[in-house]
Amino acid sequence: MMQAEILKAAAVLKQAKHVVVMTGAGISVESGIPSFRGEEGIWKRYDPIVLDLEYFFENPQASWAAIKTLFYDFFGEARANPAHFALSELEHAGIVKSIITQNIDNLHTEAGSKQVYEYHGNTRTLTCTSCHSVYSREQVDLTAPIPRCPKDHGMLKPNFVFFGEGIPEREATLSHQEACRCDVMLIIGTTGEVRPACNLPRIAKQNRAKIIEINIEKSLYTLEHVSDIFLQGKATTMMQALKHAILDKPV
Ligand code: NAD
Repeated sequence: MMQAEILKAAAVLKQAKHVVVMTGAGISVESGIPSFRGEEGIWKRYDPIVLDLEYFFENPQASWAAIKTLFYDFFGEARANPAHFALSELEHAGIVKSIITQNIDNLHTEAGSKQVYEYHGNTRTLTCTSCHSVYSREQVDLTAPIPRCPKDHGMLKPNFVFFGEGIPEREATLSHQEACRCDVMLIIGTTGEVRPACNLPRIAKQNRAKIIEINIEKSLYTLEHVSDIFLQGKATTMMQALKHAILDKPV
C-alpha cells in the first residue's frame, strides 16, 4: 500500500515543472532536535515566553540564558539527516526548485541545498538592537551573559523570528511567489498550525498545485484535505524511498 503511494508521489514529482518543498520541525526530529509542541516538545521543558519580543527586551539575561542553551549549544550539535540530504540530491537532479523552511537550524544548507527560504530566519546571524549591524555567530562572544555588539555595545538579537515579530520581508515575498508558482508542493513534518507559514500550502492548492505530505501522523493539511497524497511515516524513511523511486534507474 505504502509502496504504491510512494510510486504515485514519485511519478507526480517527476512530471512536475516546479516543485517547492515546505518543511517544519518534523524533518529535524531525527537529527535530534525535538519539535516545539507535543509530549516530547521543547515547550515541555522551556517557557515559550523567552522568545517573546517584549519579554526579551525587558528580561534580556533570562531570555539569553535559554536562547544560548537551546539554540546555540543544543541545536549546534545537530547534523543534517538523510531526509535533508535527499532533498539536496533532488535539487541537484533538477527535481526540487526550492525549499521554504520554518526551521532555524541551518540543516538544509548544511546538507547542500542551495535555494532555501528561511521563513522564520536563522541562528547563524545576529543583529545589534541599537545600531543594526549584522554579525555571524562566529564574530561575537556568545559566552557573555548578554552578547553585545563589538561596535557600540548594544544588545544582540539572533536573526530568527520571535513571538510578536514579523516574517523577514524578503523571505515572506519570495516564499509567497514560490507557493503561487509551484505545480507540486511537498510538505514535510509540519502541523499546519503556525501562522502565517501554514497558509503557504493552502495558497499553492488554490493555485492548483498538487500537495504531497509526509508526516508521522495526520496534520491539519491531511484533516482538511489540503494534501492530495499523504505518506505516513518518518521523514528519513519516506524521503529516501521517494528519492530512490525518482532517481534510481530501473534494472
Ligand atoms: P511542530 O512542532 O508544530 O510540528 C512538528 C510536526 O512534525 C508534527 O506534525 C509531527 O507529527 C511531525 N513529525 C514529528 N516527527 C517527525 C518525523 N520523524 N518525520 C516526519 N514528521 C514528523 O512544528 P512546525 O509545524 O514546524 O512549527 C513549529 C515552529 O517551531 C516552527 O515555526 C519552527 O520554526 C519552530 N521550530 C523549529 C525547529 C528547528 O529549527 N529544527 C525545532 C522546533 C520548532
